[in-house]
Amino acid sequence: MNIQIVEVGPRDGLQNEKEKVATTAKIALIDKLVRAGLKRIEVTSFVNPRWIPQLADAEEVLRGIKRPADVIFSALVPNVRGMERARESGLAEIALFMSASDTHNRKNLNRSMEETFPILREVAREALALGMRVRGYVSTVFGCPYEGAVPIDNSRRVTHELLEMGVYEVSLGDTIGVATPKQVREVLEKLVKDFTNERLAGHFHDTRGTGLANVLTAIDAGLQTFDSSIGGLGGCPYAPGAAGNISTEDLVYMLDGMGYETGVNLERLLEAGAFIQQELGRELPSKVLKAHLAAKAEQ
Ligand code: MG
Repeated sequence: MNIQIVEVGPRDGLQNEKEKVATTAKIALIDKLVRAGLKRIEVTSFVNPRWIPQLADAEEVLRGIKRPADVIFSALVPNVRGMERARESGLAEIALFMSASDTHNRKNLNRSMEETFPILREVAREALALGMRVRGYVSTVFGCPYEGAVPIDNSRRVTHELLEMGVYEVSLGDTIGVATPKQVREVLEKLVKDFTNERLAGHFHDTRGTGLANVLTAIDAGLQTFDSSIGGLGGCPYAPGAAGNISTEDLVYMLDGMGYETGVNLERLLEAGAFIQQELGRELPSKVLKAHLAAKAEQ
């Protein structure tokens, strides 16, 4: 069985880095991820640079990377102004995002969930008219740092609205990394029934060590697409204490060993992980990267 991996490290990962990462390093990282065989990469965000200065170089990154025709590069677009920048980017895909809990949505997008729908609808309409694919993210599906438990009806409503706008795939986020497999099974069984597995992807965090277990549970529930981040970079800048997208190296190692096809070459992926770890100058959370570098140091 094939599992698709959406690499989100250059955006979801790096956006949490306090120290500015050099544009040339971002470009080199993305080129290495392409060489590792990743076919879907979220490379940056057209968010206001005042909100996330780390990604202010979106245009330069997009100008600098090689763009092979068989790789889909994507960028996050938070609003109509972001879409103005995306229009010039030549990207085949953009991604929209909002939360399944109102407080997180207000902290993240500065408006209520209800106020967010028409804005995203307008962005989606423009992108689709330009021939772009539109992906959607729902944050806080499995828990909110401000509200705690999030009713499944919230996630169902947001997923429904996004698909109605013409989004082809909705990525369900455990933004603060609180989900356990039991909850993942309960939520996904319902959402897969409502929207089909082909429209859904899983975005898990390993904040509390349940990330890969949640992936396996999601595969059992029918999901075949997962977001992950090189080295395990990233978390959520608006969720206090939250850290750690699942690492792409850990995900690929597990899926390889279980006989799933990802199209990703683990050796080359580890080169990308080692590269960005060196650039950032600190040990990254990926366990497979750690094991690889420790074994290499022994040789
Ligand atoms: Mg994330």
